[in-house]
Amino acid sequence: MTAKDIIEIGKRMYDKNYIVAHDGNISVLADNIVYITPTNISKGFMTEDQIVEMTLDGQVLNSAIPSSEYKMHLAVYNNNKNVHAVVHSHPLYATTFACMGKPLKSDILAEAMYQLGDIPIAKYEVPGSEEAAESVIPYCNDYNGILLEKHGLITWGFNLLDAYYKTEIAEFLAKITYNIGG
Ligand SMILES: [Zn+2]
Repeated sequence: MTAKDIIEIGKRMYDKNYIVAHDGNISVLADNIVYITPTNISKGFMTEDQIVEMTLDGQVLNSAIPSSEYKMHLAVYNNNKNVHAVVHSHPLYATTFACMGKPLKSDILAEAMYQLGDIPIAKYEVPGSEEAAESVIPYCNDYNGILLEKHGLITWGFNLLDAYYKTEIAEFLAKITYNIGG
């Protein structure tokens, strides 16, 4: 079921242009196994056998190759035990703010205020690097997601839908912030 859910969310994210080409990654933690999207495959067109299974210390358990950004996902799971899903994408407006180096303030929009909270920004690190993974750690207990400078958005939640909805709300907040000239 977990792999099917990841495939479904991947399709939705691809259809909404939150990710293009091979961008983005999605993971779920269930019974101490991390299920994560593969590298070099569009998240709009995944099959079950392509979903990677790995341990919380990064050991791959099947024959699939994980996203190069898997360390960022593991960093969240290993530092916040309430998290069971992580979604990383490059939605247009949230990524625009990431490229401007500007965090998103939630207090302009009721939905965002109550269901998301502020989205701070972590300073630029090379995607996939150890440093990029570490840059998420200071935020993963106090926020529901962050912008990655010059890169994109990452959100997390108690299950996959929760983490995905945080991405939707963050992108909506970014759109509104942009429209009001914030
Ligand atoms: Zn990325």
